Amino acid sequence: MKKTVLAVVVALAAVVVALWMRQGDYSRTEYMLNTVITITANNKTAVDKCFDEIERIENLLSAYLPHSDIWAINSSERGQAVKVNSETVELLERAAYYKEATYGAFDISTKPVSDLWNISGGGNVPEEDELSKALNCIGDVVIDKADSTVTLPKDGMAIDLGGIAKGYAADRVTETLKSHGVKSAIADLGGNISVIGKNGNRSWKIGLQHPEKARGNTFGYVEAEDECVVTSGGYERCFERDGKIYHHIIDPSTGKNPENGVRSVTVIAKDGTMADALSTALYVMGKDKGIETAETLGVKAIFYTDDGVFFTDGVNMVLTKEQTE
Ligand code: AMP
Ligand code: MG
Repeated sequence: MKKTVLAVVVALAAVVVALWMRQGDYSRTEYMLNTVITITANNKTAVDKCFDEIERIENLLSAYLPHSDIWAINSSERGQAVKVNSETVELLERAAYYKEATYGAFDISTKPVSDLWNISGGGNVPEEDELSKALNCIGDVVIDKADSTVTLPKDGMAIDLGGIAKGYAADRVTETLKSHGVKSAIADLGGNISVIGKNGNRSWKIGLQHPEKARGNTFGYVEAEDECVVTSGGYERCFERDGKIYHHIIDPSTGKNPENGVRSVTVIAKDGTMADALSTALYVMGKDKGIETAETLGVKAIFYTDDGVFFTDGVNMVLTKEQTE
């Protein structure tokens, strides 16, 4: 992201956060994990520690930072076991679980396909034969927990935790805040919102970005306490080519954006890692299968689709007036 754009985004985030702030609150905003992160709580030491923790996680899990575990895995000879941190092994195991639980909709090995689309580099529409070659690289990561090693068994295979790492970081943030005795806080990791306790004597109100409107416009809000509210949106990282919008969420069965009318999916769960993996997966699965899967896995989900807004049982959301008309 260009520096001036980045400065504007960070400044806007600070303005939005100012609306949440209460007396005694300390709020800090940084650009990390490829997104704007803001953490607000009434304990400066705790908030600063959270950013140290995010930096540690980024250095461990980013596919784009040399010396990270994921970098080491992706740079290894295929079929060769790579020794990694036990934390990396555990998160990769969780990613494998969400792949299975979502019938392959969540798949960290879509990286070769995402690379072809080159969203962060301005966008590229790949040829069908390039796509089918990249699709052949999708596979299961081999994990040896006892040895703390990971192997990519297929030629051309590569992994990226972009669909789950922010949720994992959000969980470590709330853990860090709680270990410092924080009883009320909000952390926004680029669309992954985690809250601790209440905002004063009320639940936190979390606005949901309207997929077709400028940033800051919402289509409704949910109330949350000690929960994560995670949104995956096709409007987030995208590019336009010949009048068509292409975005960053890939259906691993086609190598393309899902064509199911979904514009955004919000998942509400106690566990941020789960909410992050599932928001990406449910987007791919579409409304009907997605709602069924969310209910089976015990999370709440909201689908903004071309046909309206739909949600699982148990969602208590307030829609803006125009959405209810
Ligand atoms: P999110 O914003 O959490 O929905 O994650 C989207 C990011 O996850 C993309 O920028 C890719 O890096 C990666 N990704 C895209 N499609 C998938 C998928 N089907 N499963 C897992 N990760 C994906
Ligand atoms: Mg995700």
